[in-house]
Parts: sequence; structure tokens; C-alpha cells
Amino acid sequence: MPEDVPAQAGEADEEGLERARKLFAGPIQFLKSAPQLKFLPDPDVPEIAFCGRSNVGKSSLLNALTGRKAIARTSVTPGRTQELNFFDVGEPLVLRLVDMPGYGFAKAPPAVVETWRRLVRDYLRGRVVLKRTLLLVDARHGVKPVDAEMMRMLDEAAVGYRVVLTKADKIKASELEAVTAATLAEARKHSAAFPQVHVTSSEKGLGITQLRAAVLGDAYT
Ligand code: GDP
Repeated sequence: MPEDVPAQAGEADEEGLERARKLFAGPIQFLKSAPQLKFLPDPDVPEIAFCGRSNVGKSSLLNALTGRKAIARTSVTPGRTQELNFFDVGEPLVLRLVDMPGYGFAKAPPAVVETWRRLVRDYLRGRVVLKRTLLLVDARHGVKPVDAEMMRMLDEAAVGYRVVLTKADKIKASELEAVTAATLAEARKHSAAFPQVHVTSSEKGLGITQLRAAVLGDAYT
């Protein structure tokens, strides 16, 4: 572990925020795509994975976190992204971000869904360096049945996860308050979910600084 990363980066303290800001402003590179587990990179650094329904705003959030315009492809044709994409953060390497394939697209054939399920489940269950998953939920819709299903997969794999509301700028403050409360209530029902909700907007930069610090903190908890 690089010496300037604390054992536990505080979620909200100034030092943690600044350390994360610096890390994400530095070198970040796409490493590889893994369509099957045998193509995973060597497990030599902490990983933080991102999952959510297709179109939830995952690519936009990865771009916002890394401060880059197109590190993650946005709006790829549903069904084409059946891979785990790895991004190296820091030089020397500090952590890896893992972009998991989106789920819940309406027209996916059952075989595609099954391939997705196997890849994701096996990655979640077997990846020793996976420190945390961020489950993205569209603030306009709240937790849908497919999201709850993903939460159950994470519970079963015993991978701790944070629930992140995306596109918060798209709804009114009163609606945001209601969806945040409902999402928190849902998170509390799940054994592996953090009992808190991150509210973000990639468009407006809302919640991004705090999420960076949480990601770095989780990598070294
Ligand atoms: P992905 O399929 O989960 O990777 O989703 P994308 O990042 O491609 O986003 C899907 C759509 O939502 C795109 O049209 C984005 O421009 C839009 N979007 C993503 N994040 C935000 C946000 O924070 N605010 C708003 N208003 N739109 C967003």
C-alpha cells in the first residue's frame, strides 16, 4: 500500500477529501476488458466496482469521478457491454475502478442475461481484492425490482456496497428527499448494504468529491 494512503480515509474529513481529489486528478488509465474471469488482471491492488441498470448514468459517474470526459463510454448499445472494464488509478497504482456490465435492459435475450449473471456472480464471489461495490440507482426511479435483485446478489456474495443515487439534478428537491428516504429504507433491508445513500449528479458535480473520498477510503479499509 502506498505510504500516503491511510489505513482508513475518513469519509468527510478535509484531509481525506484532499487526498482523494489529488489521486483522481492524477494518472488514470483504462487497463483492460474482461469478458470472462480468466481475463481478469492479477489481483494485486484493491478494486472498487460500479454496477447499475443500463442507462443509470454509470459511465457519466465514472467520467465525473475521474474528471475525464470519456474514460468510460457513454450509452453503448445495450447488450454490447458484457464485460468487466478495469481502470488503473494512481501511479504508482493505488486502486482499480471496475465498470461492471449494466443490467435490466428490456430486450436482452435470456442467454445474454444468463451470461451476465454468471460473470457478475463469479466475480463478486471470488474476487479477494474487491473491497466495495457501488450500486447506482436512478434518482428518478428509485430502487426497481432489478436493483433489489442485484442487491440480493451482493448480499449473497457478502460484498459490502454503497447505494448511489444518480441524476439528482433531474428531479425536484422534494422528490429527491422522498426517493432518498425510500432508498435508505430499502438499503436497511439488505445485509451487505451501507445504511446510507449517496446523492449525486454527474452533470452538476453534486456529491462527487465525497464519493471520491469514500472510494479511496473503502479501498484501504
Ligand atoms: P450508463 O448506460 O449507465 O453508462 O449511462 P450513461 O452515463 O451513458 O447515461 C445515460 C444518460 O443519462 C445519458 O444521456 C447521460 O447524459 C444522462 N445522464 C447521466 N448522468 C446524468 C446526470 O447526473 N444528470 C443528467 N441530467 N443526466 C445524466
